[in-house]
Amino acid sequence: MSARLLDGNDIGARIRAELAPRIAAFTEQAARPPALGIVLAGADAASEIYVGTKLKSAGEVGCRTDLIRIPAEAPVEAVLDAVRRLNESDEYDGILVQSPLPASMGGDAEQVVFDTIDPAKDVDGFTPVNVGLLVQKRHTLAPCTPSGIIELLRRSDIPIAGARAVVIGRSDIVGKPMALLLLHQNATVTVCHSKTRDLPAVVREGDIVVAAIGRAGFVQTDWIKPGATVVDVGINRVTDAAEIERLLPADSPRRAVFAKRGALVVGDVHPGVVETAGALTPVPGGVGPLTIAMLLHNTVAAAEERIRTPRPSARV
Ligand code: NAD
Repeated sequence: MSARLLDGNDIGARIRAELAPRIAAFTEQAARPPALGIVLAGADAASEIYVGTKLKSAGEVGCRTDLIRIPAEAPVEAVLDAVRRLNESDEYDGILVQSPLPASMGGDAEQVVFDTIDPAKDVDGFTPVNVGLLVQKRHTLAPCTPSGIIELLRRSDIPIAGARAVVIGRSDIVGKPMALLLLHQNATVTVCHSKTRDLPAVVREGDIVVAAIGRAGFVQTDWIKPGATVVDVGINRVTDAAEIERLLPADSPRRAVFAKRGALVVGDVHPGVVETAGALTPVPGGVGPLTIAMLLHNTVAAAEERIRTPRPSARV
């Protein structure tokens, strides 16, 4: 039997539609729309695409977005200056610094930059203050990808309370906050990583499996308990024809797409899992649209919170 496909485009569209009246109400009250400042350092091709999608989606729901570009060769101070200006300005409700920063800015550049963002405007939920609030279940702004996955599960009527959830990956952006959000929903959570012993056996215990690894088709069909819900977070661009042969059956229509474009985006879960899982998020069209929807949700939430508790020191 084939798994039910969980359509992230559809659920993302519903979340965006629900934001529309909140955006209209905020715009009327504040005499301006919710505003997001995006900082993009360098010219990484994938980052350009992600930022382009964020700008387009925010514009479509009626948020204002401004893009601040920093040259790749600039020092990290240039990014910090941009963040400080956005922190101080009363015109912006949300700040997003696109990851990754150029390697030349140094290994700890991202941490230093995220530490500088005003937690009230931290729509990615990466600052230590918001991470702490998430741990204590007192958060307003949680990381977009895991909170989008909770929305996806909830709106697809997948029971979380009491379920055994296995999260593969322990990054600060996906794996760790995913584990916390599932725990807050009363799942029994196991977090796996590159040092986990007998990963397939652990994954087989999962009623819900979230794969956030960054390796194409890594999670195999026989690792999945029949009927489990599998959430594939991975975004992997494959250009190797042999890899495509390993991943896609001979009759897959996606093979023709690969032949035409020379590249294909695939998830961390082998597509054959569709035969074992009860429900599965496709790649593309699963988790990705929810990440964007939750970014907009967080921007609106930050804007509403700021209007409720304005800072006397903020400058226009
Ligand atoms: P990351 O590289 O920061 O973390 C990867 C994690 O995988 C690590 O914690 C590591 O321990 C674990 N891992 C690596 N090899 C492993 C192995 N052999 N066995 C078990 N665990 C292993 O990556 P990330 O930022 O968490 O992203 C993961 C994937 O999700 C990437 O493909 C990324 O592009 C994608 N992503 C997608 C979205 C989206 O909106 N769809 C958002 C963020 C990230």
